[in-house]
Amino acid sequence: MKHFDYICIGAGSGGIASANRAAMYGQRVALIEPKQLGGTCVNVGCVPKKAMWYGAQIAEAMDLYAADYGFEVERKSLNWSRLIASRDAYISRIHASYERVLGANKVTVVPGKATFVAPKTIEVNGEQYHADHILIATGGKPRWPNVPGAELGIDSDGFFALEQQPQRALVVGAGYIGVEIAGVLHALGTQTYLAVRHNAPLRHFDPMLSETLKELMAEHGPTLLTEHDVAQVEKLADGALQVRFKNGHQVQVDTLIWAIGRDPVIADLGLREAGVELNEDGYIAVDEFQQTNVQGVYAVGDVTGHIELTPVAVKAGRQLSERLFNNKPNAKMDYANVPTVVFSHPPIGTIGLTEPQAAQQFGAENLKIYESTFAAMYNAVTSNRQTTRMKLICAGEDEKVVGLHGIGFAMDEILQGFAVAIKMGATKADFDACVAIHPTSAEEFVTMR
Ligand code: FAD
Ligand code: NDP
Repeated sequence: MKHFDYICIGAGSGGIASANRAAMYGQRVALIEPKQLGGTCVNVGCVPKKAMWYGAQIAEAMDLYAADYGFEVERKSLNWSRLIASRDAYISRIHASYERVLGANKVTVVPGKATFVAPKTIEVNGEQYHADHILIATGGKPRWPNVPGAELGIDSDGFFALEQQPQRALVVGAGYIGVEIAGVLHALGTQTYLAVRHNAPLRHFDPMLSETLKELMAEHGPTLLTEHDVAQVEKLADGALQVRFKNGHQVQVDTLIWAIGRDPVIADLGLREAGVELNEDGYIAVDEFQQTNVQGVYAVGDVTGHIELTPVAVKAGRQLSERLFNNKPNAKMDYANVPTVVFSHPPIGTIGLTEPQAAQQFGAENLKIYESTFAAMYNAVTSNRQTTRMKLICAGEDEKVVGLHGIGFAMDEILQGFAVAIKMGATKADFDACVAIHPTSAEEFVTMR
């Protein structure tokens, strides 16, 4: 049996980050991964998504804005294979960089699938490995619905594997992935439907965001089908998919994409042999220090079902290694005020409480809401004056900013700096004390009245 100080199961965002940090403190680390390095984010998540979103931005610039800036642009067909090749070449460079860094840190990468055979022992390809500390960072996988014909569709992994651009697509789901994939496909020229079960996509976000997204989708976006719950999928003689909804409506498409949430990857992990318990939602149960119920066994990232974002998995993984291997007994991930962006069209940026959450926590009478609606200059000088909306939710007499939300041009890049301020506990007066940068969209956040 081989022995290591630390074994990380899964070379995704959390596993790689934790393994490297531990190795930097001189630990002998093994990282187990059956697929390519980088996990969901690099291979079938953030990275390929963002590359395609940038492609979609270029398409939108040509379709909606170029003419009024004086360019005589004729948008011809999209060379899908070229887009995919550029995207995948970029991903290959990330793989190479991960290999380099893991190699430099002397992390032993073991290709294969890990299964616990005992609390501190795993088996990979028939060989056993023991460690004092073991991290489970096996991530998540797309959830599939239980409707007849569901298997005729694909999931987000299948979307990234598409070799040809779909002509007509239906995306089902009301979360990040549904909104992002439907927006990208639409902008790239696919006739796209987005079907949601209730009255809006992103209905758990601040209502201003989901309402504005709906408005903007109606102007230049995929066809939004609200109150549409899929009943059945059938393949027609010509190969098209006929999707029937519970409300009786039906659509025909050539590609159906399920984006209805994700489940933790825990099957075949041997959790029973390890004695590791799940929480009531089926994720690995951990405390605030990422500790499972088994001493020496930890979990970070999507497999714990906390906020499912790459930087969250990365930070939780690094903090765990700081705690275990750098003598920082209190190091832990702070799950409060995590900023997040939805790469919709235009993008959404959000941090802190939604207005309904803030009203519940502080009482509506103790809130002051600041809002601004305008057209970002980028599109205001054209005939497509796309709406930007921003909102600050302030609580108490000192007007502490407890929520910041925006949808509009560049919101994806605007959010990070304001997130620092909010993490530091900024008040509205602190925002006002900062001189605006003009002309930008971001300046609205420091000039709201
Ligand atoms: P993962 O990155 O999923 O890594 C888990 C790894 O464990 C995988 O490589 C898997 O092969 C491996 N594994 C599984 N079982 C075993 C086993 N038994 N033995 C060994 N290895 C195993 N987040 C953002 O912050 N920004 C975004 O823009 C964004 N976009 C996304 C777009 C999509 C389409 C998706 C699906 C997700 C997106 N996310 C985004 C979320 C982000 O990808 C995840 O939160 C993040 O990857 C979670 O990291 P993780 O380490 O928990 O798991
Ligand atoms: P989400 O959990 O975000 O959203 C899925 C939504 O689909 C649900 O909220 C639900 O909304 C709807 N839904 C659930 N079941 C069904 C069903 N049977 N039929 C129709 N609709 C259904 O999951 P995603 O898959 O979109 O993304 C998973 C996670 O990955 C995200 O939560 C996020 O943390 C991360 N991610 C982050 C991104 C980023 O940072 N930009 C991008 C992509 C993913 P409702 O109840 O309203 O119907």
